[in-house]
Amino acid sequence: MTHRYSSLEPSQTCIVVGAGPAGLMLGYLLARAGVEITVLEKHTDFLRDFRGDTIHPSTMEALHELGLLDEFLSLPHQKAYRLQAEIRGRMATIADFSRLPTRAKFIAFMPQWDFLDFLARKAAAFPPFRLLMATEVTSLVWDGETVAGVRASREGRDIELRADLVIGTDGRNSVVRQAAGLDVEDLGAGTDVLWMRISKRSDDPGQAMGHAGPRQGLVLIDRGDYWQCGYVITKGTFAAVKEQGLDALRARIAKAAPLPRERFDELDSWNDIHLLSVRVDRLKTWWQAGVLCIGDAAHAMSPIGGVGVNLAVQDAIATANILADALREGRFETCLLEAVQDRRSFPTRATQALQLMMRSRKRPDATPTPQHRKPPLFIRLIAGSSLLPRLTGRLIGLGFRPEHVRSRHVDWSCSLRPSREGREPIGDSGEVVVKESAR
Ligand SMILES: Cc1cc2nc3c(=O)[nH]c(=O)nc-3n(C[C@H](O)[C@H](O)[C@H](O)COP(=O)(O)OP(=O)(O)OC[C@H]3O[C@@H](n4cnc5c(N)ncnc54)[C@H](O)[C@@H]3O)c2cc1C
Repeated sequence: MTHRYSSLEPSQTCIVVGAGPAGLMLGYLLARAGVEITVLEKHTDFLRDFRGDTIHPSTMEALHELGLLDEFLSLPHQKAYRLQAEIRGRMATIADFSRLPTRAKFIAFMPQWDFLDFLARKAAAFPPFRLLMATEVTSLVWDGETVAGVRASREGRDIELRADLVIGTDGRNSVVRQAAGLDVEDLGAGTDVLWMRISKRSDDPGQAMGHAGPRQGLVLIDRGDYWQCGYVITKGTFAAVKEQGLDALRARIAKAAPLPRERFDELDSWNDIHLLSVRVDRLKTWWQAGVLCIGDAAHAMSPIGGVGVNLAVQDAIATANILADALREGRFETCLLEAVQDRRSFPTRATQALQLMMRSRKRPDATPTPQHRKPPLFIRLIAGSSLLPRLTGRLIGLGFRPEHVRSRHVDWSCSLRPSREGREPIGDSGEVVVKESAR
């Protein structure tokens, strides 16, 4: 069967697949540096619950470098200057951000959709930026051995967009990395996480985040008027947990929580419980001629430390630092993609090694919940020290090799302002989510 794709545009400079934290930060930075860029996102909006909601000091430092920090912090958020855990019935600090050498000495908890909406709005002020929502990439276009664009489904039509470079920021189930044939190294994960919401009351404990309760395994994130709860179960046992019934799960969660048992009656159907299948993996090679993957598409992280969003943002900053000038000036070469991997491989490997070290070393057993185990020795040592929480605060808050914005800021008020002609309408309604420059 032959398939017809409508290719409505001349080849462009760069296509980014996926408008998550990596894709939108990269889109913002490349457009700011004068690179014509189209970001494709399969969803119609950013409203998805239970995603990474932590913005770390390193990301806020980058926002400061971009002159965006004050406006970002004017959005509703909660601040955590420390992360706490309950160890043997006592609350202990396991990460302290309050002494970091950054403008923001805290983690900001903000719904991911607000962060993404903020980045999209800021990026839309740059003429070379274009965001196409409801556009799902289905495969890559090849020119011999080189990736030359993407095929996507938009408004019920198949379209083809060609570009000098395709960047996959389409997350842990990346179509780009699969279609590019990039090999994945699976590092294994012993747990899954069940996410749910519990409403918050004024007399609830005031912790911003913690592994609470007499046993380990529950994370509570203060989201203003509700608690976002993450409950750890042994990998692959969600079906067994379901078999035991909702009552049994409610009772187990309540045992680990600093909230009264009846508060968990709010969970009245399995629809209230969302499974995060934890994965820790990374690509052996992040690129191939004409294509690069970054963020979760290059490395899925464990939820430990809540570092996924920040690693994705750091990847985007490094990618823009390395590629922007070459892309804008039409002297892009494949060796630059290798340079991106060289730059970001160490922070990825080091963070994953730390995450694997911080999880319990015991093998998962047949019981659905691993809460009866003692916290790992590593965590107990941190909790017992006054200095180690500062070190973990640094490792979580700044990460390994924090990136600084070096890509240039083109002045759009001068005559460099490019035309969007020939790039706007795709599909019948021609609905393109780009706002004109605020200037
Ligand atoms: C339940 C849960 C809780 C988490 N908690 C935390 C946390 O507390 N802190 C933290 O830092 N991290 C957390 N993470 C991880 C964090 O969300 C990710 O590491 C981070 O979002 C990665 O950013 P990204 O831009 O690389 O990919 P993603 O955020 O996954 O974004 C990928 C984007 O690509 C789009 N897309 C996918 N396929 C296509 C396609 N074919 N065509 C077009 N678009 C496509 C998706 O719709 C999505 O918008 C959590 C993840 C989950 C699932």
